[in-house]
Amino acid sequence: MAATIHTLGELRQARLHSRPVKQEIRDNLVRKLKAGETLFPGIIGYDETVVPQLVNAILSKHNFILLGLRGQAKSRILRALVDLLDDQVPVVPGCEIHDDPLAPLCSACRARIAREGEDMPIAWWPRAARFVEKLATPDVTIADMLGDIDPIKAAQAGLNLSDELTMHYGLLPRANRGIFAINELPDLAGKIQVGLFNILQEGDVQIKGYPIRLKLDVMMVFTANPEDYTARGKIITPLKDRIGSEIRTHYPATRQNAMAITRQEAWTDRTTAGGLKIEIPDFVREVVEDVAFQARADRKIDKRSGVSQRLPITTLELVVSNAERRALANNEAVVVPRVTDVYAALPSITGKFELEYEGELKGAETVARDLIKSAIGNVFSGMFDGQDSRTVVEWFDLGGTLPLSDVTSAADVVAQTSGVQGLRELAGHLGLKSNAPAPLVAASVDFVLEGLYAQRKIGRSDDRGYSAAPEAAPRRGPRREEPMIDEQFQIPGSKKKYYN
Ligand SMILES: [Zn+2]
Repeated sequence: MAATIHTLGELRQARLHSRPVKQEIRDNLVRKLKAGETLFPGIIGYDETVVPQLVNAILSKHNFILLGLRGQAKSRILRALVDLLDDQVPVVPGCEIHDDPLAPLCSACRARIAREGEDMPIAWWPRAARFVEKLATPDVTIADMLGDIDPIKAAQAGLNLSDELTMHYGLLPRANRGIFAINELPDLAGKIQVGLFNILQEGDVQIKGYPIRLKLDVMMVFTANPEDYTARGKIITPLKDRIGSEIRTHYPATRQNAMAITRQEAWTDRTTAGGLKIEIPDFVREVVEDVAFQARADRKIDKRSGVSQRLPITTLELVVSNAERRALANNEAVVVPRVTDVYAALPSITGKFELEYEGELKGAETVARDLIKSAIGNVFSGMFDGQDSRTVVEWFDLGGTLPLSDVTSAADVVAQTSGVQGLRELAGHLGLKSNAPAPLVAASVDFVLEGLYAQRKIGRSDDRGYSAAPEAAPRRGPRREEPMIDEQFQIPGSKKKYYN
């Protein structure tokens, strides 16, 4: 329909009256709900928590705020609102505030319509352009956000300064008839919050002391860190009052949901970039995900700023890259990441959290290494619950060592570990088929060794690789997972007291 409408007269004849933007978004949402469409494709794990609240806020035609920590898909949700706009809306060509040709706000457009009449051409504004986003920072000014008065323009045109023709429009007026998103609202200076409130409430604003009337039609959406938002004095009360709904986002509740998000977001299929075939074992994905879960629960890490879902996403990318590098160096046809590759992803982990004082004393890298180790231990314990690892541990206790590293080829890992009694059998618990390719066998064996190391049943050092657990390991007995068997067992010729 829009394609055939080029003039004001045609638009009037077609009776295409634009609706207020919140009504338009509501109507389109209602249509999608009736049709049973997926509302926020790609947003995972919010179906029963955030999405119902969002739907209610939109049905209520509210301005709303998403309260959540970093990496909880807040910006992504706001951008997804674009899908709820009409494909395009008619505008007066060239108007900075995208005036509706049938109901223009600015006097320039009204003058033009009076001059050109029904023959005035109209333009069509696509929905993607109707979303305006601004990251709030303390240095954002009224001029940036709302606009400024141009005294020279006024003088030249012989206009009064309060005439809106003298106005140089800021971001918000230029978002007229669209969605205006402000990220990190509490970082916005108080007087700008007042300006926003006035626009929302009264449709006018004072600029440099001159009242300017602008009956804008905007859906306002915001994001904020919950603690900043609720802190006294950060948000002016009248603005808070105008925000109809506060919706809390959260990190994925389950490891499965988290893995689904990372699977969707991480760049791991590299065949199109001239890369090799990549097979990521599930246990590697689980460990990567658990690093984030461990970090979110760690008291050395600042809870207030959170641990973004971007941590596991970028970590998995580096894990795959490290495996890719190894496979290329060793001329392997299949890339299979190992859990030891997660240590190579430290550069993507250390920058993704803020440390508490205790964490700062240890240093980001040590904290990150500890997180990886406990993630491996956690995932390993879950998968190998009830499995007997005694034969393998005994091999090390009797003096066996394995000088492996993350650059050791798959064939070498398989060859060097083939003499370790019980190791292949234990790794077979991961569902290894008898014809599994060497890189996958190597990854499984690597996981078992790292798992036993995380459980302190064997030791590992940079120069010697895997060996028996250090003699000085403090009181391993009480920490064991299976305390019922063999409370103590004296190995002849060894000072080691505990093992299982
Ligand atoms: Zn206009």
